[in-house]
Amino acid sequence: MNEKSIVNNHNQRKKKIPNLYTKKSDCCGCSACYAICPVQAIHMEFDGEGFLYPLIDEHKCIGCYQCLKVCAYKKDKKAKFKRGLDE
Ligand code: SF4
Ligand code: SF4
Repeated sequence: MNEKSIVNNHNQRKKKIPNLYTKKSDCCGCSACYAICPVQAIHMEFDGEGFLYPLIDEHKCIGCYQCLKVCAYKKDKKAKFKRGLDE
């Protein structure tokens, strides 16, 4: 590993791991985030009721936020916020 890649690696580590959902109602388990992650840092796991939810491996995540951009729930929240409808 050369110096540049060590610095890049370090900068990537400093990036914040995205929060895909805080409440289960903020995620429908569509797996879009899982599918788009370029480094396979997300896996889908069943909860106790048999619904799938994404989990991020923070050691693999490079903080590219593609998962947040692709998530329909996050887009909807952003749109509501812009229209002044967010609580
Ligand atoms: S893209 Fe959004 S709604 Fe779909 S599984 Fe990921 S976090 Fe849940
Ligand atoms: S931020 Fe990028 S690397 Fe991290 S989980 Fe989301 S898509 Fe994967």
